[in-house]
Amino acid sequence: MVLPHSPFLFALAVGFLLSLQNARGQETGNAPALRPPNIILILVDDLGYGDLGCYGASKQATPNIDRLAAEGARLTDFYVSAPVCSPSRAAFLTGCYHKRIGVNHVFWPVSKTGLNPNEVTIAEILRARGYATRYFGKWHLGDQKVFLPTRQGFDHNLGIPYSHDMGSMVRVKKESGRLNPLHMRVVPVLRDEKVEELVKDVGPLMSVYEQELIEFIGASGEQPFFAMLAQHAVHLPNEPSKSYRGISQNGDYGDWLHELDDSVGRILAALEESGLDRQTLVLLTSDNGPAKKNNGTAAPLRGTKHTTWEGGVRVPFVARWPGTIPPGQVRREIVACMDLLPTLAAISGGSLSSVPGTIDGVNVAPLLLGTQLDAPPRQTFAYYQRTKLMAVRHGRWKLHLKAPDGRENVLFDLQADVAETTDLAADYPAVVRQLLDIAGPVRLDLGDGRKKGIGVRSLGHAAKLRPLFQATSHPSQEDE
Ligand code: MG
Repeated sequence: MVLPHSPFLFALAVGFLLSLQNARGQETGNAPALRPPNIILILVDDLGYGDLGCYGASKQATPNIDRLAAEGARLTDFYVSAPVCSPSRAAFLTGCYHKRIGVNHVFWPVSKTGLNPNEVTIAEILRARGYATRYFGKWHLGDQKVFLPTRQGFDHNLGIPYSHDMGSMVRVKKESGRLNPLHMRVVPVLRDEKVEELVKDVGPLMSVYEQELIEFIGASGEQPFFAMLAQHAVHLPNEPSKSYRGISQNGDYGDWLHELDDSVGRILAALEESGLDRQTLVLLTSDNGPAKKNNGTAAPLRGTKHTTWEGGVRVPFVARWPGTIPPGQVRREIVACMDLLPTLAAISGGSLSSVPGTIDGVNVAPLLLGTQLDAPPRQTFAYYQRTKLMAVRHGRWKLHLKAPDGRENVLFDLQADVAETTDLAADYPAVVRQLLDIAGPVRLDLGDGRKKGIGVRSLGHAAKLRPLFQATSHPSQEDE
């Protein structure tokens, strides 16, 4: 579960990757230069496991994302740390279970807490390696200045610091110049650390982010870049453009996903036109499962966002790097969002020496690059919801310590029963004991409920609380 910070092992991983890259280049007669690849990480919001064509969807078409998978790798067992936004995003960026770094709940506007600035993010590791770094879209790791993307390794930021359903009420002037007595619910679009505008609808931002990302790609020159594009789609409320309404068989949700897929297609086209597609690793995934009230699906998995059924935390993940990742791979090993940090560090030749403590990610680069492995890089996954350890997985087995339906010690064979229908605990008591033995040290390290783990670090706290803009009221900080 824990990656040793051994410089020797790390150098070995980088050497392995570079030799593989060379070997692949020679095979194809088109050797990529020995420079770290550009990296584009596209994070879709609340996208379900079964919502892409390459994962079996039929209600909306996603040909461009399907092409990413066909030309690269598709993972069947990719997990996020938590079934909600902020904890999952914190885990993606830091290589740690959200529980380790104290991000157990979603952040609301004007929150005094956020991802601790002392945590080291993927962006900080890549920037130290010489990358230009950009953030586009929803952040959701704290809206106070000290928590913004620009304080976590991103050179520049354009986007909204939280979910677009967390708008604040402001008075707005009608065209006549009179104040609208009904007010309006808005969210702030930040350019770096300043509010550029307040918007009622986030739909138009999809193409704004796309355009600025394409400009960034075009201007990158010799410097490698890392861009994180965290689109607002397909989180409620759905806001597809007018021209996409009715295009899918799945309401506004499918329409918006179709629009997002087209946007991905234009980004891929821009990479190809710039001659950078063979030097660019493109990753696309989701922060958690589909919302119960929306039209997404986790099929064939059970459950939705907010649950630790597979459908809440197992999400699509595709990776494309032409000439380096062999096309058409489907990998069934367990991979988690915490694995991205050590993996991208290894791929870029970046250093983990600045990471302040233990991380939970393992380097899965050999797996992504198509190597057949004697043993999977990750054997176990711990399912946390907020602060509670809900389940553990080891290999094919998953034990719900407490299932979302309230049952305890429920055992599923995920290889034979991916929909978690048949409890096998009574048939396999030794497996139950084995998984309880795995849960013990996890609980000691990361904690469980009120019991604080010995390996847990603290959440960030802002010294002063300043709203980003004047509002008549901010949404209440309900616990989502
Ligand atoms: Mg989400």
